[in-house]
Amino acid sequence: MKKSPGKVYLVGAGPGDPGLITVKGLRCLNEADVIIYDHLINDRFLNDAPVTTEKINVGKQVGKKVLEQNEINKLLVKEARSGKTVVRLKGGDPFLFGRGGEEAETLAQNDIPFEIVPGVTSAIAAPAYAGIPPTHRGAASSVAIVTGHEDPAKEVMAVDFKKIAQSVDTIVCLMGVGKMETIVDQIQKGGRSPETPAAVVERGTYPHQRVVEGRLKDILSKARKAGIKPPAVIVVGEVAQLRHTLAWFESLPLAGKTIVVTRAKEQAGPFSDSLEKAGARVIPFPTIEIGVPKGFKSIDKALKASSEYDYIVFTSANGVKAFLSHMRRLEKDIRCFNEATIAALGEMTARVLREHLLFPKIVPTTFTSKHLASEFKREKLTGKKVLLFRSQIANDILPRQLRRMGAQVKEVSGYTIRTPRVSTVPIKQLFKKGVIDLITFTSPSTFTNFVSLMGRKSVKQLLKGTRLAAIGPVTKKEITKHGMRVAITAASHTVPHLVEDIIAYYQSKKG
Ligand code: SAH
Repeated sequence: MKKSPGKVYLVGAGPGDPGLITVKGLRCLNEADVIIYDHLINDRFLNDAPVTTEKINVGKQVGKKVLEQNEINKLLVKEARSGKTVVRLKGGDPFLFGRGGEEAETLAQNDIPFEIVPGVTSAIAAPAYAGIPPTHRGAASSVAIVTGHEDPAKEVMAVDFKKIAQSVDTIVCLMGVGKMETIVDQIQKGGRSPETPAAVVERGTYPHQRVVEGRLKDILSKARKAGIKPPAVIVVGEVAQLRHTLAWFESLPLAGKTIVVTRAKEQAGPFSDSLEKAGARVIPFPTIEIGVPKGFKSIDKALKASSEYDYIVFTSANGVKAFLSHMRRLEKDIRCFNEATIAALGEMTARVLREHLLFPKIVPTTFTSKHLASEFKREKLTGKKVLLFRSQIANDILPRQLRRMGAQVKEVSGYTIRTPRVSTVPIKQLFKKGVIDLITFTSPSTFTNFVSLMGRKSVKQLLKGTRLAAIGPVTKKEITKHGMRVAITAASHTVPHLVEDIIAYYQSKKG
């Protein structure tokens, strides 16, 4: 029996900022069996898609083709014929200079069902993030979106810039960097004044967006001087100067800053999001990997004796998650803990507990083991049974102090923390190039693992041009012990405060 074909969704991923994909586009990504994507796609979409989804790169980059267009067309047909739900993910909008039209034609010819999910095009979004509205009352009432890319097989350019210059107010040119000289020249020959405002927006909507502004007479030399490279859009017209008052993206507090986040992949999300919201470019480089312990014997024993505990103590959100997964594995009902009082170190730990309807009664305002121990001083611990659910590398300050207060402490390693095996070459290059402004450490082990990954001898030299931020005094102490200076230390040991302090640090530098 012939298999019925699947369906192909031609989805616009937007220009770069992952927030600019549509709700429908995101739904398609979550439902896809296979994602076939181009090089202009933000990696975030691929990383966030379910691990079981197949991902195929067919990206075309100038001078470097992964697959020819007809091979891409064939691949789409083949994947759909095998019954799969295919997402063809394209930068910006799929029908605007994305060859989406050709791909859809192929699908139609082969009787493959398809849908088009439009995207936010870079032609609109890149100027928007540079503070340039393509139309503006009194300044521009028409706009042309054109390609500057010359078909190598043709003698003349595909677009008659002279004509365009005469007939529309704003010209937005995609794929124009390589041909900028001709473009600027032709627009002036078409009658536009050399004084006409112009701007080039490189990697628009990405945190490392760059904008060069000038006038038709000098925009080329300015762009060359700045070393502008694709992807970039060129905007020509009176509206380009509106960015003097409307350049909102570049005024975000961390705009232009590149920050490395060393937190574990599972935990980095909210931290990276807040930094990005403030305009920073975040480079994830997890130096911690969370895993499961080799054997479950002591965990199982502790959880089976659940009703005996008077207190259960969690010192991290990971600990809570691990605890819940072990409960699930053992099919243990959460009520098995009777009246045990729950204690949580850190607001994040408390939040994850509350999300699962476990309400911690003890949550110290300053988040170190020492403070948690001092909170316990108010409790009468003599003879009380305390379950301490932590990782295998946790220190013994807390159990020692609790025991001193008379408690019977049961320590359980519910999860493991280790250094991931990753290539350090790309990140080392970024450090050496001086691209990274700040590196953040959210626990002592994020730092010590970083040191062991980079090499004890070279780490200091590597971080010479980079500032260091620590989530709290304990982490700071670990860093200074290695002879390095910490520029930012959050006093309260929380991610939101660390973000606030990072912002305040750079604001004070600006002022
Ligand atoms: N379909 C895409 C365009 C593909 S053609 C869209 O709708 O955006 C590729 C060109 O798009 C690049 O050469 C560049 O001119 C432009 N482009 C894509 N992403 C961009 C970005 N983030 N910033 C600036 N220009 C971008």
